[in-house]
Amino acid sequence: MIRYDLVCAQGHLFDAWFSDSGSYDRQAAAGLVECPVCGSTRVRKQLMTPAVAGARRDGESLAEETAKLRAVVQALHEHVRREAEYVGPRFAEEARRRAHRKDAKPIWGEADGEEVRSLREEGIEVMPLPPLPEKKN
Ligand SMILES: [Zn+2]
Repeated sequence: MIRYDLVCAQGHLFDAWFSDSGSYDRQAAAGLVECPVCGSTRVRKQLMTPAVAGARRDGESLAEETAKLRAVVQALHEHVRREAEYVGPRFAEEARRRAHRKDAKPIWGEADGEEVRSLREEGIEVMPLPPLPEKKN
């Protein structure tokens, strides 16, 4: 059995179980998959990101997964703020200045993709900080 998150032409979200992906295709093409809200048979699969799909596991809801992930990212942000010095947009410049000093305190700040790439080419270790996910109510 396979579960699909579906969306109808009116934008109603629902899910349905099928024996396999071919069975969904056949039933949808035959107009047998119907929106439970408005009865529309114009339905399609919702696009999901691999990360979200991969996070879904038996016995653990997506909400729990998201909350855990959020806690991990939050802890990472707190760690960085505690251990590293904030240098803001001067990040690339500061990273270069400190690159060859062993006692240099770690720093964090803002850098664009171009700056990150050139720092890496110079052999300077740069780690992107994942953005804090929005808190959902
Ligand atoms: Zn509908």
